[in-house]
Formats: sequence, C-alpha cells, structure tokens
Amino acid sequence: MKIHHVGIAVESLSAALPAFEKLLGRPPDSQEIVADQKVRVAVFNLGESRIELLEATDADSPVAHFIAKRGQGIHHLTLAVPKVKERLRELEAAGIRLIDRQPRSGAGGERIAFVHPASTAGVLIELVEEK
Ligand code: ZN
Repeated sequence: MKIHHVGIAVESLSAALPAFEKLLGRPPDSQEIVADQKVRVAVFNLGESRIELLEATDADSPVAHFIAKRGQGIHHLTLAVPKVKERLRELEAAGIRLIDRQPRSGAGGERIAFVHPASTAGVLIELVEEK
C-alpha cells in the first residue's frame, strides 16, 4: 500500500496554480474535469505519488461544500490498493463507515471509493485500485 495522491481543495485553480508551480518548479502534468465529482483537477506527478489541486465546477460539488464549511486545504488522502471492491467489503465488515459501498469512476477512469471521515480522524480517505 502507498499514498497515491493528496487532494487539495482550492477556490480557484488559476489563483492557486502559480504558487504550486513555483513550489514544484513546473506546470502541472495534466488537467482534467472529473464529471462524477464536479471538479476540475490539476495533477503534479511526484515520483510514485502526486498532488491534485481540485476546483469545484459547480456550486453543488463536494469540493464547493468542503470549502464553504472548512475553507481551502487538504481535502483527501488517497491510498492505492490492489482491489477496491474487496477492501470495501473488508472495511465494512470491520465496522469502518464508508461513503461508497461500491467502487466508482475517478480521474483517468480509475476505480475509486471513499471512506467516511467519521471513521478516520476527520480525514476523508479515498481508495484507488492499482493498475
Ligand atoms: Zn483523489
């Protein structure tokens, strides 16, 4: 298991990107819209891991709700696992509260699922299936 990426909620990509470009020394490796999450994502690959900046594309986006409630900042931490569906079953059996009981489609068409922050010290955890 490893940290696959850290998702950071930003009010505006155009406002947030210049500082991250200075910090990381280059522009993002890719940008895409993830319709299911109602976000525009800018991705910086960093070795085996990456940083994703997340901007809401809609007032109803989970990222818009997060910023309204808690402000900009780290939104979620993502762990790569071999099989998301099996892991969800194991976690549920262990009494961990889940947001998704079935995997869904994330950035790049990866299979992802979210664990509820109520079970993980207030941190939203995403699982992504390793390719
Ligand atoms: Zn993510």
